[in-house]
Amino acid sequence: MNTSVTRLASLGHALQRHRPVVIALQWAVVACYIVLVVVPAFMPMPPAEATITSNLRLFAQFAFWGIWWPFVILSVMLFGRMWCGVLCPEGALTEWASHHGLGRSIPRWIRWSGWPFVAFVCTTIYGQLISVYEYPQATLLILGGSTLVAMAVGFVFGRGKRVWCRYLCPVSGVFGLLAKVAPMHYRTDAEQWVQHTGPRTRVNCAPLLDMRHLSSASDCHACGRCSGHRNAIALSWRSPCQEIVSAPASPAQRYPARLLVFGILGLALGAFQWTVSPIFVSLKQAAAQWLINHEHYALLQDNAPWWLLTHVPEAGDVFNWLDGLAILAYLALTTAVIGGSTWLALMGAARVLGAPRQGWSSLAMALVPLGGTSLFLGLSMLTLTQLRADGVVFSWMGWARALVLCGGLAWSAWLGLRLIGPRKASIARRVGAGLCFAVPLTLVGASWIGVFY
Ligand code: SF4
Repeated sequence: MNTSVTRLASLGHALQRHRPVVIALQWAVVACYIVLVVVPAFMPMPPAEATITSNLRLFAQFAFWGIWWPFVILSVMLFGRMWCGVLCPEGALTEWASHHGLGRSIPRWIRWSGWPFVAFVCTTIYGQLISVYEYPQATLLILGGSTLVAMAVGFVFGRGKRVWCRYLCPVSGVFGLLAKVAPMHYRTDAEQWVQHTGPRTRVNCAPLLDMRHLSSASDCHACGRCSGHRNAIALSWRSPCQEIVSAPASPAQRYPARLLVFGILGLALGAFQWTVSPIFVSLKQAAAQWLINHEHYALLQDNAPWWLLTHVPEAGDVFNWLDGLAILAYLALTTAVIGGSTWLALMGAARVLGAPRQGWSSLAMALVPLGGTSLFLGLSMLTLTQLRADGVVFSWMGWARALVLCGGLAWSAWLGLRLIGPRKASIARRVGAGLCFAVPLTLVGASWIGVFY
């Protein structure tokens, strides 16, 4: 067998053999997470001369939003959901609670496949209204609240399982999409599984997967617990395009596709860009002027509590009701314009190709690399803003961003070609579908170019 193949499989087996080390690592991450989420929320505003290295509050903000999140996104695209299975503190805590909990069976409403979409949309919008990237109290409310709910769900449902991670976590849908392009995954050799005659051991797959038929990396947390099971499961290489190109269109792709199109490419883009958008400023100024001209002052008051709208007078950062409404309107506009146009273009491409009604959702999967790069670019804007405040500026950043954006666009375009090219349709139809597919690439690319350049 090829050495790199066996090396990768050994890495997977190592996670299985050294489970106590993995668990110790998980608890170490839990400890760091608690310190970074809880302690800064009770610290005073940093003085003007404070830096990331001299002030825990600034350090925690940088560590969470500047390092943790962008590199988790990157890691999922590179290694699958190993972050979830090996390091995620929320996953570790919900599983721990589930080991000591009521062990109830999972009700049908929890299994609804739309929860990751709904949870992502709600947390993204709420996070913008209370400035989650800026203030530790908002971070504690959203991340700490999510962790408490995750533990409560773990305590009530399943026995040593990660019911929260599988069905409800606000980022599980995003990770499930990004893991589709990871070049490694746990794969089951179906023949080996059937032929295995050795002793039967039980494996606790915390996210409740059917280990006999592992092929997608979307739901697997790559925790390694099943590595070597029945001599059939191993961490294996694959082409980063394989899962997207070979997956047949299915109704199960409907919510992931909606999350990608409306959530990641639409809403999240708006969430990253509204603070630097001239459209947002014009929209808000026009509305404020209209309110003043008509002597309606209620919406210009800033009496909302901090957990509803940002209210930090000591930082001079106080949202009035109009600010909140303008943010909601801008996010809705981005979702409608970019998400809506992308959806219509994909529907058009599927219709031109004569694909079934759900055909648009399998074409949408080709946009996963663009979605991942868009998230990475958006989160790294926070990293750079924080570094710039400390006087750290990288002259090559414009080029690096261009490279990342072009990489995401080219990868998605290539996947689009691989999905559209082999279809049984005339050349004219395939060209038409390709042109439709170019619409989201152009919109998202132009949107980032507008922000960066
Ligand atoms: S199938 Fe389950 S046990 Fe196996 S690596 Fe994935 S999450 Fe872990």
